[in-house]
Amino acid sequence: MKPKDTAEQAAFRAEVRDYLAQIADQAPESATESASVAARAAWQRKLAEGGFVGVAWPAEHGGRGLGPLEQMIVDDELERADLPGILDFIGIGMLGPAMIVHASEQQQHRHLGPLLHAEEVWCQLFSEPAAGSDLAGIKARAKLSDGGGWTIDGQKVWTTNAQFASYGMLLARTDTSAIKHRGLTMFIVAMDSAGLEVRPLRQINGEAHFNEVFLDGVELPADAVIGGVGNGWKVALTVLMFERMAISGHARSFGIELDAVVEAVRDSGRGDDPIIRRRLAELAVDLMALSAASKETLFALQSGLTPGPEVGLQKVTLVESTTAAGELGIDLYGPEALVAGNRWAETTAFAPGLRSAGGSNEILATTIGERVLGLPPEPRLDKNVAFDQLPG
Ligand SMILES: Cc1cc2nc3c(=O)[nH]c(=O)nc-3n(C[C@H](O)[C@H](O)[C@H](O)COP(=O)(O)OP(=O)(O)OC[C@H]3O[C@@H](n4cnc5c(N)ncnc54)[C@H](O)[C@@H]3O)c2cc1C
Repeated sequence: MKPKDTAEQAAFRAEVRDYLAQIADQAPESATESASVAARAAWQRKLAEGGFVGVAWPAEHGGRGLGPLEQMIVDDELERADLPGILDFIGIGMLGPAMIVHASEQQQHRHLGPLLHAEEVWCQLFSEPAAGSDLAGIKARAKLSDGGGWTIDGQKVWTTNAQFASYGMLLARTDTSAIKHRGLTMFIVAMDSAGLEVRPLRQINGEAHFNEVFLDGVELPADAVIGGVGNGWKVALTVLMFERMAISGHARSFGIELDAVVEAVRDSGRGDDPIIRRRLAELAVDLMALSAASKETLFALQSGLTPGPEVGLQKVTLVESTTAAGELGIDLYGPEALVAGNRWAETTAFAPGLRSAGGSNEILATTIGERVLGLPPEPRLDKNVAFDQLPG
């Protein structure tokens, strides 16, 4: 169930479709980790040259000043033409938009253009071994040096794309005496800085999607600070808000389409089995509810509204339905569905990660309980994740 295009959106869709037809032969063969980063960056650059990367960014920062519905049109058309999306979804979807809100003019001028054109790829250096849900508990330390710059020591983990990123947005503690949310500052760090080491974390499917990042005496200049010293939590919340929107607003690109599940049930010849039918019906209800809710989120965003905590419910439903779809596919096809590269195996391997990324199910359940359903607060609320503190 997709929103119907307005006349302007239909014209924009035609423009996207035409441009994609012109450049389709330059697309990399696959958008997976195994495709070369250079080829994926070149593809993003090609899309940016046509004006189809960051279409919701303001025009003065290289975007089109359009909305999330137009972004969805670009994504739709890429999918329709079976073409890969951009390389730097973190930089374009989360970090760039947060820089537009908080970075200095000089930082924006320096980084936003290269980011759109994949001349720079960015990563998000927030999570640590003992600070994920409880993000404000991070320990990476930034100490003011005599020359006014900063020296960073600490360890980050689960850093997607750090293996090829040129810059990172790093959350570090600048004041150990302040209460934990207040003593944080956000920095720009070049990933080739002396003292910074990236170690890949290998996943069950053999790919290394994310990394550990060690920072040992990394020197940063004074102008590496984004949004002011001591304001790191505010900047982090903006990033997390864009992350939440990216995940829920583009829910369908993570999951399995209902049609594919119906086809799998039909193919298996088990469409008469009452248990399979019940599983399929439950999944269909969840996917249809998700689709309707994502549509509402997109409309809210398009009208400039910030979606509230109820968006968390979409992410929980997305995780549960992705998991259920993967399990149903594997039950229907048996061992042949577990071969590497098979979509059901990929879905099943991906779902547990999705459960944690962008706020875990448990944390979101707490937020939904308290802020949507009005249940009494959990005693440990102050230790909870950023999602509890999000504006809106
Ligand atoms: C695919 C993927 C990509 C990622 N990319 C990045 C990235 O690029 N940069 C980055 O900085 N981080 C990234 N992360 C890390 C992500 O932000 C964290 O995994 C997430 O914040 C959860 O933190 P954690 O893994 O430390 O789990 P924990 O916070 O240790 O949680 C472990 C379990 O305990 C539960 N739990 C924790 N606290 C509570 C509570 N108060 N009440 C109830 N249950 C609770 C959680 O729900 C979870 O089930 C990524 C994660 C994934 C899976």
